[in-house]
Amino acid sequence: LVLRLRDTPPSNWDSAKCKLVAITKNYDPFYSDDPEETQEAIDFCNGDADGVVCPIRQECLRFALSNNCKDGIWGGTSEITRKAIRVAYPPDNEMMNENWTWMSEESARALVPGGLLTQEEDDE
Ligand code: SF4
Repeated sequence: LVLRLRDTPPSNWDSAKCKLVAITKNYDPFYSDDPEETQEAIDFCNGDADGVVCPIRQECLRFALSNNCKDGIWGGTSEITRKAIRVAYPPDNEMMNENWTWMSEESARALVPGGLLTQEEDDE
């Protein structure tokens, strides 16, 4: 739950690739408890499924990182990967560290192995 946005949404949300996904009451891979569906959403964002990376993946991830969106798939990353990126690139004055860069699940887990966070970081 985001009570106060630290960063504004991308101006080009209309280009979001996920607008093509038919979300239903019973199917939403971007907010799923099913690991297979979650991976499906990650692969969809990153073009692993069809060779087409979401054109606003970077902006999507920046929005999620800056606003600490904990749930769901954003910018082709899982919650755990976003936590790893936040650890690797700590927020700067509440905003996402400008040095951050998109990274794969594998890279994030390698960078911050073992699950990642202190409770303080998780409570942000
Ligand atoms: S990167 Fe963000 S905007 Fe793009 S398809 Fe994934 S969730 Fe949607």
